[in-house]
Amino acid sequence: MALPYTHYYKLSFSALNVKKSGSLHLQPICCVQCNSNFSSSPFTEKHSLQRYQRDQWVYNSNNQKLLSLNSDDRAASCSVPSDSDSIRLNDIALQLPELRKLLEVLKHKRENCGGHVPKNGPGNVFLVGTGPGDPDLLTLKAVKVIQKADLLLYDRLVSNAVLDLVGPDARLLYVGKTAGYHSRTQEEIHELLLSFAEAGANVVRLKGGDPLVFGRGGEEMDFLQQQGIQVKVIPGITAASGISAELGIPLTHRGVAISVRFLTGHSRKGGTNPLFVAENAADPDSTLVVYMGLSTLPSLAQKLIHHGLPPDTPAAAVERGTTPQQRTVFAELKDLADKIKTAELVSPTLIIIGKVVALSPFWPQSSKEASCLVEA
Ligand code: SAH
Repeated sequence: MALPYTHYYKLSFSALNVKKSGSLHLQPICCVQCNSNFSSSPFTEKHSLQRYQRDQWVYNSNNQKLLSLNSDDRAASCSVPSDSDSIRLNDIALQLPELRKLLEVLKHKRENCGGHVPKNGPGNVFLVGTGPGDPDLLTLKAVKVIQKADLLLYDRLVSNAVLDLVGPDARLLYVGKTAGYHSRTQEEIHELLLSFAEAGANVVRLKGGDPLVFGRGGEEMDFLQQQGIQVKVIPGITAASGISAELGIPLTHRGVAISVRFLTGHSRKGGTNPLFVAENAADPDSTLVVYMGLSTLPSLAQKLIHHGLPPDTPAAAVERGTTPQQRTVFAELKDLADKIKTAELVSPTLIIIGKVVALSPFWPQSSKEASCLVEA
């Protein structure tokens, strides 16, 4: 998908017109201060080729390039398929020859390091949460580990600003879903992860948000631990926390919401249908945060209303939250799906449903303006 914007807008809290009406309500004024700097979105790169170019992988057989670690170590390179579809299908596989070379180099170094590094004993694998996009939301622990890494695997939700922190000698490997890799290749990547750890490298798996919140971090931990590799988890700020803070929405609030529930709108084949969960989630005194919920929202909203959630429950959908490209739709639950469609929000989008949404300074005041698009 093409980038929807070539400009980004900064919304400033101080520029908001503050109007009190009983509780804390501020009048939303959209789009203050246009910044003309073009900023590529971390989430909308058409496919991973752009990422590879940035990560300096070698794909052109005519263009012999040196692979990192040691300028004397030459990497084999491979040619890029000409059409973009086959690039998408093959991109992970294309990196494997280089990775294998890198692994050889690493093993060789380890054998010849003269005892500086212990010859035996695996390296560390860190599962690191990178937060929703704003690099200032990283933990100090995450920054330290990122800067020391030899090899980093990352996916679509990890922003470019976070990747800028990676040390100059480290290798980055994009393993995002848009790459369209198939399971055999993913297994190969797992094997490589393992091999690098066994060869003593500091391997870092970067995950958007928190690695253990809808991040499949548990599965990766499981795989590596079964192979005898210790995995250390560094938590990240999950999208719900980062985005609600950005919008000034308290996820719980005395007298308004006594609990918060994180729900996935997407289920794996054979898993629990998220719409089934809606029956228990239709609680007016709780906040519901839906991850990966764009496609199932129309039926989820209907179900929630059917099971007792008032149709005028305040709700928000936030695309690319905490990044300069953030866009937010505010609407009552009954209108949210239509408003999202009109605004053409795309993934990643987070949905927050509950009375607490009306506590946001950006929530439209009167029912006449009950829906509103706010661009960052
Ligand atoms: N581990 C992540 C969640 C991964 S599931 C976390 O803890 O946040 C992917 C979903 O997370 C997306 O489909 C979207 O619903 C949500 N998400 C993650 N980052 C987001 C962002 N910056 N803006 C909006 N939604 C985001």
